[in-house]
Amino acid sequence: MTGSGKALFGGVEAGGTKWVLGIGVDPDDLHALETIPTTTPAETLQRAAEFFTQNGGVSAVGVGSFGPIDHRSGHITTTPKTGWANTAVVSALQGALGVPIVFDTDVNAAALGEQRWGAAMGLDTFCYFTVGTGIGGGVMAGGRLVHGLLHPEVGHMLIPHDRERDPFAGACPFHGDCFEGLASGGAIRQRWGKPAEELGHRDEVWQLEAEYLALGVVNVICVLSPQRVILGGGVMKQPSLLPLVRARTRELLAGYIAAPELLDRLDEYIVGPALGDRAGVLGAIELARLAHRS
Ligand code: ZN
Repeated sequence: MTGSGKALFGGVEAGGTKWVLGIGVDPDDLHALETIPTTTPAETLQRAAEFFTQNGGVSAVGVGSFGPIDHRSGHITTTPKTGWANTAVVSALQGALGVPIVFDTDVNAAALGEQRWGAAMGLDTFCYFTVGTGIGGGVMAGGRLVHGLLHPEVGHMLIPHDRERDPFAGACPFHGDCFEGLASGGAIRQRWGKPAEELGHRDEVWQLEAEYLALGVVNVICVLSPQRVILGGGVMKQPSLLPLVRARTRELLAGYIAAPELLDRLDEYIVGPALGDRAGVLGAIELARLAHRS
């Protein structure tokens, strides 16, 4: 509680290169916002805890973390990021702050933020993809973020790979040519020898990228029956990409699912995020608020 008695909530978007820290209750009422680099687990967690204590304290903290994670034990698990495998995030923050810590994936947190304030307002079943260095997907079904066994791993779906069209073996250290291995920003860089932002003029890059993204989107549509699909992340900043993904998704679905959203309203169905780079930290704040309320 603050001096005025109004509960404030902390949010952490814990990424592999930076952590975004925020305090507040909603996008128009953010009291503090700070970005720190991801260094060692001990140093990064200590700086995050200090941010909350030095800014007046909070009633609960939500953490949306890079993964994979185990939300039950509060650990980051098998990440290839050096030094971070088996990091106990929740116990470290709880020990330092003495308030409830809610732990989820970065993409589930971002999905929650988009549902509360952004591109998924009013929906209860949808998927939020981020296509950046890797690919992740947050999933809400029936108004609840999906955890199940651990959490969805949308980025590691297996999708068809035509090796004649695309001989690239794939970039995933676990699976080679899974969805992330073929379509992430890291895969684009390895396949074409340049980062996505330097390939804007190469049509073949974006035709192939749209093919893979549409395959992933169609799989999620068939499994989840989402009311909308949100595609965010750095790779989606290429302006031609979203229309290409919509067109290819329509072709791959082949008119089978008889919903007008999938036939003639795909520009409202496959959309970009509305909260931009703040979706993760805002969603993490919402995780904390929901936990405090319950
Ligand atoms: Zn993989």
